[in-house]
Amino acid sequence: MRYEGRVFRPPSEARSLIVQATIGCAHNKCTFCSMYKEKKFRIRKLDDILEDLNSAREYYKNIKRIFLADGDALILKTEDLLIILQHIKRIFPECERIGIYATPKDILNKSLNDLKVLKDNGLGIMYMGIESGNEDILNKITKGVDRKTMIKAGEKAKESGIKLSVTLISGLGGKDYIKEHAMDSAKVINEINPDYVGLLTLMMEEDTELYNDYIEGNFELLSPEEVMIETKLFIENLNVKNCVFRSNHASNYISLKGTLNDDKDRLLNEIDEALKEDIYKPEGLRGL
Ligand code: SF4
Repeated sequence: MRYEGRVFRPPSEARSLIVQATIGCAHNKCTFCSMYKEKKFRIRKLDDILEDLNSAREYYKNIKRIFLADGDALILKTEDLLIILQHIKRIFPECERIGIYATPKDILNKSLNDLKVLKDNGLGIMYMGIESGNEDILNKITKGVDRKTMIKAGEKAKESGIKLSVTLISGLGGKDYIKEHAMDSAKVINEINPDYVGLLTLMMEEDTELYNDYIEGNFELLSPEEVMIETKLFIENLNVKNCVFRSNHASNYISLKGTLNDDKDRLLNEIDEALKEDIYKPEGLRGL
């Protein structure tokens, strides 16, 4: 396999074969994200992608999942994606799921029929970063997409039948937006009702604009207790069906996992219990 630069994948694709269909992210402007900063975006040559799949076939006996990277591989033309999906089906008959990163714009640029055809040819899951449902925060982080567009893309993904996994980031609005971030994000999730919601916690990357804002005192990081209060408010305001919720990434202070709405009370109790622990209190209140 040939990999260019650092390669990222969602936590649930940890055991997947990763194949780069694109290099970098076409947007590459989010102020908190350093993932593809060093890469100039381009779509890889189809032959190179197919060659990588062929060489992986020679090397690995049993591949259950394949993930198409980098940032927004759904940007590829539908015809090219179909060639890749059909090639995977031919040479990896044992593969059960193919996943891809998809920006809201990538999803909206495809017709519903295109998405359905991709599903019929093996595309099993799309990962879309929502980050926040609050318009001010989306503007501040230069996500390049407003909440209405997020919802439209999410609804279209759901309608296509391809599983939709979305991510949000705790603390992304800093101390000024705890309530707005939690409640507006819950509203967007309620509209979309994705199959999976992943809640990460903001981790500062040194080579980002947000980090510079933080160093200059223009952005305040949440304390662990504030992150949990924000998470609690978010979960309290969710109203979804059969939505798998995960907040069990290395960035999270406590590990939360369940299916919403069914497990809502249990998750809220787990947060309440954690909030009683000293380590989540602001330093001045520990031991009290
Ligand atoms: S968060 Fe996603 S869309 Fe934004 S720059 Fe990073 S990879 Fe690109």
